[in-house]
This record gives sequence, structure tokens and C-alpha cells, in this order.
Amino acid sequence: MFDYKGRVVLVTGASSGLGVQMAHGFAKQGADIAITARRLNKLEAVAEEIRKYGVKVLPVQCDVTDTEQVNATVEKVISEFGKIDVLVNNAGSSKDAPITEMTDEEWNFTVDTDLSSVFKMTRAVARKMVEKNYGRIINIASMYGLLGTNQGCAYHASKAGVINFTRAVSAELAPKGITVNTICPGYFTTELTAELFGTDEFKQYMGLTVPMQRAGQEGELNAGAIFLGSEAASYVTGVVLPIDGGWSSAK
Ligand code: NDP
Repeated sequence: MFDYKGRVVLVTGASSGLGVQMAHGFAKQGADIAITARRLNKLEAVAEEIRKYGVKVLPVQCDVTDTEQVNATVEKVISEFGKIDVLVNNAGSSKDAPITEMTDEEWNFTVDTDLSSVFKMTRAVARKMVEKNYGRIINIASMYGLLGTNQGCAYHASKAGVINFTRAVSAELAPKGITVNTICPGYFTTELTAELFGTDEFKQYMGLTVPMQRAGQEGELNAGAIFLGSEAASYVTGVVLPIDGGWSSAK
């Protein structure tokens, strides 16, 4: 049911963290993979690892906030593989501050990286998917897109934006054979979160707020992504799938 042989998956933000894990997950199912990020040396190392599964891997340097780079990346993937079956909009970052201190630069950085990038990449890839009358788009939001905490309003606003962007675009693209869904990860230890999650204070906070009392472990996001990206998920669109150890259901 989850055989990806002959499928092409594009994962953004695959030079570290969850993007690397998902790229491995799709490749293990047999997919050919395009991976993007700004750090090309890291991408090339990830590509080398993934080729061990016997699939084709194309690393492409791309800043997802830059429309020209996004469009050029999509053209490069199409010229290499001829199509993109699955897009995973995973790239993300954050510069946040308390609302009374937040600068325009911090706000714009976060919205550009976490929300506008999803629009830009989805627009470019959807144009190609529409031609094939087939596609799966998976947007990686966050549990902070579902509820409010004091951990940064720019990030919360951007990720909530991703969730409703997904719903709207899923309705638009449904007649074209393209599904669009959101995954909301909870705490996973990656480059983005290592410093924060390493503190005793945060471990205690996690113990109190996550019913499973731990962060997500390597690969625990993959099953959701593999399901939503598969042909089998043909009647699933516009949904929000939290993978958060119960964090959002316990609020
Ligand atoms: P990492 O920092 O480990 O990875 C982020 C990835 O995004 C990197 O590959 C980075 O590559 C890429 N990236 C960042 N900015 C840009 C940019 N402007 N252009 C292109 N690529 C970019 O973070 P995670 O793996 O933890 O996060 C992945 C996604 O999951 C993010 O969207 C994040 O918001 C979300 N998430 C993560 C959670 C967690 O607990 N880890 C919880 C909830 C959501 P490079 O620097 O090479 O460009």
C-alpha cells in the first residue's frame, strides 16, 4: 500500500532534522528523492546516505524565501525526474521575541521562512502537478499552529497560517487530483530545538505538558508523512495531523 517505487518526492529543509528523517523514510519506501536547503555540503552528505537505498537523489541548493530560487529548483527537479508526485514543505526557522520587543525584521524573517515559503513552493510545484492531474502536498506546521503558548507569536502566527493555507489550497486543488494536508509535529529534538530542549527546565515542562512525557524520536514523524504522501491516501485532503505525543489533545 505504501510502495513509492516510481514516485518522486521533494523534501525542503532536508539538510538537517526532520527533513533528513523524512527523506530517509520516503527513500526506504522506494521513492526517488529531491532534497533542498541552503547548506549544499550538508545536502550532499545526506544525498550520499540516501543513495544507499538504491534510489536516485538530487540535492538542490535553494533558499525557500526566494521566489526565483524556488521556481528554478522546481524546474531542475522536473528536468531530472520529469515530475514531482509528493512535495513536503518542511523548511522552517524562527527569530522570535516577546511581542513588546519584537522587531519588524524578526517578524518578517519568521513569516517569510515559515509561511510565505510554503506559498511559494506550493505555487511552483502545484503548476507541475496540475499538468499530471496528480499530487500530494504535505505541509509541516507545528503544534504551535493549533494553540497559543508564550513561545513566540511570529512562529505561532506563521504555523497557524500554514494550517489554513493548507485547507484553502486543498479545496482549490481537490478537483485536480491533488491532496494537500498538514502535519503538526510536537517536540522533536533537532538542530532547531536542541538548545531549548537540552535544559532541565524544558525537560520538566515537557514532562508536565506532553502526555507521553518525552520528545518525538528519530523517525516518528515518518509514518504520517508516508501515509499522506501515498496513493492510498487518495480521499484524504485538508486534514491536520498532530504527531505530538498527545500535547494538543491534552490542552
Ligand atoms: P532544523 O533546524 O533541524 O531544520 C530546518 C531545515 O530547514 C534545515 O534543513 C534548514 O536548512 C532549512 N531551512 C531553514 N531556513 C531555510 C531557508 N530560508 N531556505 C531553505 N531552507 C531553509 O529544524 P527541524 O527539523 O526541527 O524543523 C523542520 C520543520 O518542522 C520546521 O518547519 C519546524 O518549524 C517544524 N517543527 C519542528 C519541531 C521540532 O520540535 N523540531 C516542532 C514543530 C514543528 P539550511 O539551514 O541548510 O537552509
